Amino acid sequence: MAETVHCSRCGRDAGALARNPIPGPEGAEIRRRVCAECWEEWTRMEVMVINELRLNFMDPEAQATLSQHMREFLGLGAPESPADAG
Ligand SMILES: [Zn+2]
Repeated sequence: MAETVHCSRCGRDAGALARNPIPGPEGAEIRRRVCAECWEEWTRMEVMVINELRLNFMDPEAQATLSQHMREFLGLGAPESPADAG
């Protein structure tokens, strides 16, 4: 039986991603908190966001901007940052 997650976007207990969708701790967080279906939706939305904002990935700001949109779309809230803890 497939793993399930309580998805932060759709609020269902739904099928988890088979592996982290992106590298690093953010990828692990997404796999833990977002269902595979909602991640699929984001991958389509991501293309639109990149086009709409004309994100250029030579610019490090662009990755941060995209990440912010992704977290918002997936209902993840602000990044887990030790500086903000407490
Ligand atoms: Zn979901």
